[in-house]
Amino acid sequence: MKKGLVWFRRDLRLHDHAALASATKSCDQVHCIFNFDPQILSKLEDKSDSRVQFIHDSLVEIQRQLTPLKASIEICYGKPEQEILRYAKDNEIHDLFVNRDYEPKAKTRDEAVQKILAQHKINFHSFKDSVVYEARRTLKDDGTPYKVFTPYMKRWLTLLAEDGFEVQNYKCDLSKLVKTKNSIASKDWMKEIGFVPSTPYLKAGTEAAIKQLDAFKRKISAYTKMRDYPAADGTSMMSVYIRHGNISVRDLVRAAQSGSSDGHHKWLSEVIWREFYQYILDQFPQVEKQAFRPAYDQIKWRGGKKELEAWKNGETGFPIIDAGMRCLKATGTMPNRLRMVTASFLCKTLLVDWRQGETWFAAKLLDFDLAANNGGWQWCASSGVDAQPYFRIFNPYSQSQKFDPDGVFIKTWCPELSNLDEKAIHAPHEMLPMEQQLAGCIIGEEYPVPVVDYSKKRVEALAMYKQAVSL
Ligand code: FAD
Repeated sequence: MKKGLVWFRRDLRLHDHAALASATKSCDQVHCIFNFDPQILSKLEDKSDSRVQFIHDSLVEIQRQLTPLKASIEICYGKPEQEILRYAKDNEIHDLFVNRDYEPKAKTRDEAVQKILAQHKINFHSFKDSVVYEARRTLKDDGTPYKVFTPYMKRWLTLLAEDGFEVQNYKCDLSKLVKTKNSIASKDWMKEIGFVPSTPYLKAGTEAAIKQLDAFKRKISAYTKMRDYPAADGTSMMSVYIRHGNISVRDLVRAAQSGSSDGHHKWLSEVIWREFYQYILDQFPQVEKQAFRPAYDQIKWRGGKKELEAWKNGETGFPIIDAGMRCLKATGTMPNRLRMVTASFLCKTLLVDWRQGETWFAAKLLDFDLAANNGGWQWCASSGVDAQPYFRIFNPYSQSQKFDPDGVFIKTWCPELSNLDEKAIHAPHEMLPMEQQLAGCIIGEEYPVPVVDYSKKRVEALAMYKQAVSL
């Protein structure tokens, strides 16, 4: 009897799953396993980190789907090399199936697992699953990777056309799955791994992901128009689900193909941006630690702890920035427009090294993904692939007027500004003392004075960047 083991990582679902489909096709009996990795978990300072709860809840859902089939997913905690080997040996398994992960640490981990399994004559099979096209199909004709998004996207779309505009749907025969010993219900796993329960802002799991995607499909035509307005709820909120694999990237592509409006096309291009950043991290792993453009590592950042702390806590005195940052802290989410504005603000107005912001986002985002986060930050800091030029600096006041004209988003997260009208809401410090009294918001008491002078900092940022780039 051929027994296979599927190791779940960032692919927490039972449908359209390349590794699971292959295992169920080629083996008589399939075991499933998820390992909580102490090397990852020990780096999380917040022991109520809702991403851990999100993963836990996704596993609970998988178990719920497996129970009627008299099957389960084995849960373990330890070094992956040891846990996977132990389980495979205990259960006389000779074939491991995984979906590929393109993060540098994950690649190293998988190499270590593959090596140790090989010593025990256990085969390691890996699959393309979390992207539609891997780098080997999306290199330029000269064999080098694209560094600009638009030609990359063209190549990607050409491949899709060559594939008849269809993405595969990997069928998984769940009847091959077996019962394991340590299911998610066998212990209090959150406690076991040193975490306390929390309530993620978004419900975990495939059911919730599909529900959310179906709701978004009803308004996808308006995506291009609405996506930049933080108060409009105009985006899909799929990033959290795709990050944890509750849904497949092919599910997203099929949703984008469900119509032909400008919104459908635009949304597909965003899904391709995600894939572009995965590709960049895969092909240029140095971006994890360095600026993609080396000159930008020479910048002498002038901002300090005071500015960074004000930014993190949503206390800068710039309402659109503070609203975005408070939203991030409270929910683990932030609309893309505000990610761009707050990130740009940190490095080009507060003059703080973008890596500090990248680290904060990595700690807080429910959808944190190294490739997308690093790509987004390097884009905003102008140090990345196809980034905006360094002299393009978002003006927080005009961004606020344009994308939150009535201050609806600002007032949700900065309730102390609730009584301000649509003129004062974007720059409350410009109110006269009498106006502050009337609005019940004294600047410097109820709401902070701007931590810096935007116009002056703009000039300073240009000089700071110019000095490094022209070296
Ligand atoms: P939608 O607008 O509905 O887009 C659909 C999907 O496309 C998203 O779910 C996401 O998978 C992908 N996508 C959309 N925009 C981008 C983009 N600019 N880059 C890459 N993929 C994109 N996204 C993450 O998933 N994780 C991160 O850690 C992350 N950090 C970011 C940091 C910064 C500084 C910036 C500027 C952007 C970051 N993004 C990140 C990208 C983007 O902001 C989010 O993917 C998006 O806000 C998620 O909301 P949504 O699912 O409603 O997106």
